[in-house]
Amino acid sequence: MQCLWPTEVNCMDIGLFFCRGHGPDGRTIDVDALAQKFAKDGQVSVHEHVCLTEAQRELLGKVERGEIDGVVLATCSPGHYGNSLHRIILQRLRAVGMNRNRIGFANLREQVVGPHRDDPEGAMRKARLLVQVALERVRLSHPMDSTEIAPRRVVLVVGATTGGILAAHRLVTKGYKVHLIDERPREAALKRVHVEDLPIAALDDDPRMTFHFGHSLTDANGWAGDFAVEVSNSDGKRWLNVGAVVVAVREQDDPALAQRIHELLLVELGMDGTLRPLNSTTLFTETREPGVFLVREDDVDETTRLRTAAMRADSAVTALSMLLDRNEVFHDIAITEVNPDLCGACGTCVKTCAFHAASIDAKRDVATVDTRRCKACGNCVTACPAAARDLVTYPHHYLLRAIETLSQYPSNGDPKVLCLLCDSCGYPAADDAGTKGLQYPASVLPLNICCGGRMDTQYLLYAFKQGFDGIFVGRCHDDHCRNIVGNTDMDRRMDLFRASLRARRINPERVRIWGLSPNEGEQYAEQVNDFCAYLREQRGGD
Ligand code: SF4
Ligand code: SF4
Repeated sequence: MQCLWPTEVNCMDIGLFFCRGHGPDGRTIDVDALAQKFAKDGQVSVHEHVCLTEAQRELLGKVERGEIDGVVLATCSPGHYGNSLHRIILQRLRAVGMNRNRIGFANLREQVVGPHRDDPEGAMRKARLLVQVALERVRLSHPMDSTEIAPRRVVLVVGATTGGILAAHRLVTKGYKVHLIDERPREAALKRVHVEDLPIAALDDDPRMTFHFGHSLTDANGWAGDFAVEVSNSDGKRWLNVGAVVVAVREQDDPALAQRIHELLLVELGMDGTLRPLNSTTLFTETREPGVFLVREDDVDETTRLRTAAMRADSAVTALSMLLDRNEVFHDIAITEVNPDLCGACGTCVKTCAFHAASIDAKRDVATVDTRRCKACGNCVTACPAAARDLVTYPHHYLLRAIETLSQYPSNGDPKVLCLLCDSCGYPAADDAGTKGLQYPASVLPLNICCGGRMDTQYLLYAFKQGFDGIFVGRCHDDHCRNIVGNTDMDRRMDLFRASLRARRINPERVRIWGLSPNEGEQYAEQVNDFCAYLREQRGGD
């Protein structure tokens, strides 16, 4: 884990890569003019598309030759680098030794070009600030440490559905050991599938296969390649160590089970309350949680169900093999060590953490973090009264600096709004608005934070001090927070904050909190436009 606290790496040489691909009409952002503004700081390149081979060759070459210590990609949303072909760029950068936190993104396509086509001047101002914030993030984040593990070739399948049984069969055929659990007794579970179409007898005979009928999933921790899962029945509990989990439940029959899987394995929920795949058309078996895969079952006729289940099981097993057949898997450690000089062992972090990742070391009288359980939600960092802990990627000093930088947007009549957006829902919703070309003022300035859990009211107060007219907090809908209590804990803090604003004679309506899901770009644009109109009215503007 990282030691506290690094200072800004001023001497860092950062390669800034601009992409013309994000300004298709060639008028919203003048990429060359923007690049020139930053050229005095050092290494700036402009490419037609940063994802093309020529640009990647230049980028990787600079890293390999030691010419740059960090990279900012002034292109499109970091979301694209997580779940599409773009992620190859990140994999290559990491393969040549670039630390993950030395790679930053200025999202000029979804956050600038998309929503500000009609305001090129505002778009240029905003683009400059977003690039500046990305540079600061690379300079001020703690370098990310990783731990290396050998993935276990053991898989837990949850649900004796058609898809679950087919996935289990494909897995044992490929040589994996498989545990399949289902809450119902064997007879009741198998009554729901067409036994004659499924390889149940072959599974019964296979020594690599273990059925756990009448068992529930009651706890889980760990990470892709090495999960510990607790399965229980009326006789007791036992822990299993597995490398991956395939969720093959019929959610429509058991919404409570879907909710439990969301809480234990952190698979996100969609607006309809069902478990959400990474992408419903192309990556429909992968989830945002590495190592957890979905084989969903729809209400269709039996022939279609069998065909769809076979296709989904194949897809999940292929994706899963790419993880478990590796010799090693690297895991990022996204939280710093607790600073023993500051920690007073008050136990607040222990009470705050929904993942049981925080505890007190009684011998040393100091808090500790279990990095296998920690999801880097930031809730304990916000709650700690002694500032004894921090996140590696969103350190406190970076967040303050980013607010300061964004506050430099010149007042031009439109209210200046800081948008604090959670990585899971708020920021993707803003991206969605940009992709759909929905317009709102360029003075609406986004700052993404991992989770509502890290949205500390001191940042809001600081933003008001820096001259923002309003603060919009975009977070997941109630009950959809992937960190379980990030939203609710934030809401509690915000209620107190509003009361304290009233006491300071600041209008509490200058803070608006809105629940969003990633595909609700319309909601985002509508809300920020409405919020701007309200703020304008309050200050007697146009
Ligand atoms: S909340 Fe902070 S001071 Fe209290 S035990 Fe945890 S790390 Fe230590
Ligand atoms: S960052 Fe979140 S998951 Fe990690 S220890 Fe703190 S509260 Fe727990």
